[in-house]
Amino acid sequence: MSFEALGLSSEVLKAVLEEGYETPTPIQQKAIPLVLTGKDVMASAQTGTGKTAGFTLPLLQKLSQTPRRTNGARKGSPPVRALILTPTRELAAQIAESVATYGKYLKFRSAVVFGGVSINPQISQLRKGVDILIATPGRLLDHASQGTVDLSQLEVLVLDEADRMLDMGFIHDVKRVLALLPETSERQNLLFSATFSREIKQLAQRMLNDPQLVEVAPQNATADRIEQQVYRVDKGRKRELLSRLIHDEQWEQVLVFTRTKHGANRLAEQLERDGLSAAAIHGNKSQGARTRALAGFKDGKIRVLVATDIAARGLDIDQLPNVVNFELPNVPEDYVHRIGRTARAGMSGKAVSLVCIDEDKLLRDIERLISRELPRVQIEGFEPDPSIKAEPIRQGRQGGGRSQGSGASRGPQGRSGNARSGAGKVQPAGTQAANRSRRTRSRASSGRSA
Ligand code: AMP
Repeated sequence: MSFEALGLSSEVLKAVLEEGYETPTPIQQKAIPLVLTGKDVMASAQTGTGKTAGFTLPLLQKLSQTPRRTNGARKGSPPVRALILTPTRELAAQIAESVATYGKYLKFRSAVVFGGVSINPQISQLRKGVDILIATPGRLLDHASQGTVDLSQLEVLVLDEADRMLDMGFIHDVKRVLALLPETSERQNLLFSATFSREIKQLAQRMLNDPQLVEVAPQNATADRIEQQVYRVDKGRKRELLSRLIHDEQWEQVLVFTRTKHGANRLAEQLERDGLSAAAIHGNKSQGARTRALAGFKDGKIRVLVATDIAARGLDIDQLPNVVNFELPNVPEDYVHRIGRTARAGMSGKAVSLVCIDEDKLLRDIERLISRELPRVQIEGFEPDPSIKAEPIRQGRQGGGRSQGSGASRGPQGRSGNARSGAGKVQPAGTQAANRSRRTRSRASSGRSA
């Protein structure tokens, strides 16, 4: 199938072809015609499937072909026509880039608002009038409470990564945003989520009107193209092994995951001392530092980007060849999200996990989730010391889900749902993972395996 066959206008097609896309991805083939009909859509798709273009292309076309509503608008700046709500700043910034790219031959204004940066430039931009607004929930509510954004005439709402939004404790913020919009039946609503849990279905009932369901191949379609390996190594020698692998295998661009922000900082510093250009990216870094690190990584100045799960969520780096799990995630599903940073949009990639004895249980949980045993590799000189016994895994302060998204404080309810709190707690390896994997298994059986 070609993009032309999807009913897209010449302006949109031109921009897509300039991006070098030849064939629509499965989610684009299904979602684009549906969105163009004006129906509400509930789609299961994860990052890396091309879902951003799946909703952005038809959204741009629809807005360009329908006149702006004028009824009941307040005096002052024109109200927002379409809102794309996302959980993280990085994702918001990336969607904003996509909107600008795909819409470059159309006349409209877009803006992105998220926390962690000054609100004033955002206010000036909103004052000038914005057709498409991309936002994280907290900062959007800040604007709403200051009266700097008008959502009363909204025509299209997109809720992206809805499952992550809920995992990060944003459900109350999302409900508060919904309360600022016109009636469900008076707007088109699109919900994208990697999973359809009970909570997501409840949210869908609240915000969608007789939705069309779209499901694409489960995510192991992506995972199949990723070469995955497990290196057994003692905890204290992981850094040494990582430096060695980067040198020996000549990895030029590698995204490394750690469990904690502190661990990310420390590892980036150690790698720098090993002569590798490295930077850390996590929720305690200023937005400027995060943007600089990501830009340096994308253009090759930084060879190793060390990230925590939440910071890396939604990162879209074209052709990222290598992902390393310096530590396995506590939640098996995060393994799939992590390795999904590579092998995107049909490319292949390599994902390596450095696993010490403390992480055996986590590894088993991951292998159960993805229904396959990962090949083990043993590098000579790095054989685990058999006298070392497994120890409980220390849970560093992962938190920050809330602050990643908006930066602004928003009352207690937003924080309570953060699944990753647990500062300084010591938990037996895999306890938390086991709790979560029960949920994960039920997700897997609802159409989303590895
Ligand atoms: P997403 O799932 O929206 O984060 O997209 C993942 C990556 O796929 C992005 O780098 C897009 O630029 C790329 N992409 C999206 N649609 C296509 C397509 N039809 N063909 C090739 N690449 C695409």
